[in-house]
Amino acid sequence: MENKRTISLYLLLFCTIATTAKAQDKPAGNNDPGYYTKDSLTKDGYNLIFISKDSTFNPVTKNKMIGAFFTVYPQEAKRFNANTLKKIIFIIDPAYTGVAATGNGVARYNPKWLKDHPEDIDVVTHEVMHVVQAYHGGSPGWLTEGIADYVRYVYGVNNINGKWALPNYKEGQSYTNSYRITARFLVWLEKNVRKNLVDELDNAARSKTYTAELWKQQTGKTLDELWADYIANPALELSYH
Ligand SMILES: [Zn+2]
Repeated sequence: MENKRTISLYLLLFCTIATTAKAQDKPAGNNDPGYYTKDSLTKDGYNLIFISKDSTFNPVTKNKMIGAFFTVYPQEAKRFNANTLKKIIFIIDPAYTGVAATGNGVARYNPKWLKDHPEDIDVVTHEVMHVVQAYHGGSPGWLTEGIADYVRYVYGVNNINGKWALPNYKEGQSYTNSYRITARFLVWLEKNVRKNLVDELDNAARSKTYTAELWKQQTGKTLDELWADYIANPALELSYH
């Protein structure tokens, strides 16, 4: 069981193990709260509960997800929201058919996606940013997702191996396209217009003071004017981790 040994070593090195490897032998279904493994890991004041409902989930992927969490979550918290939740739950859930989704401190991951895309570890970086955001409706959805992918770009630990990149600007795009398209716009704004703009947008969304006027207040230009400037000269030097 080489994998098991690798994981144990990793946990001993990086985390304090509160409880580990509690297993149930029945499969977890939609209405079944059962799970195969549950680990509680604590480091630097943050607690990650890792529940797997998939007995075949690759321990190497699990190991990488845990490593990513303890690397990126404290950085996201430090920059954006020091009051973010200290306890996060990950659930590897075969019943979930999207890629991943997060709410109330619980991030749910589709094991099939991670099996097919084992290097897409920074899905963790994106999902836990939703916990840090805690906007609760304080921001339009495209901006929420754009900021989460902006954070994946800045703090991601495996984007190169995961072949994840911000797409070049193409005619017909809009900032409301969300995710990576909005994220690239935010990186461009940060480099060319206002260094702290993402922090200001994030803060306004969380404190429910975000309005469309905020863009003009902070930059002197409306959102549409900023987008027009962007698409007139969208060149951007990007670097990935
Ligand atoms: Zn998201």
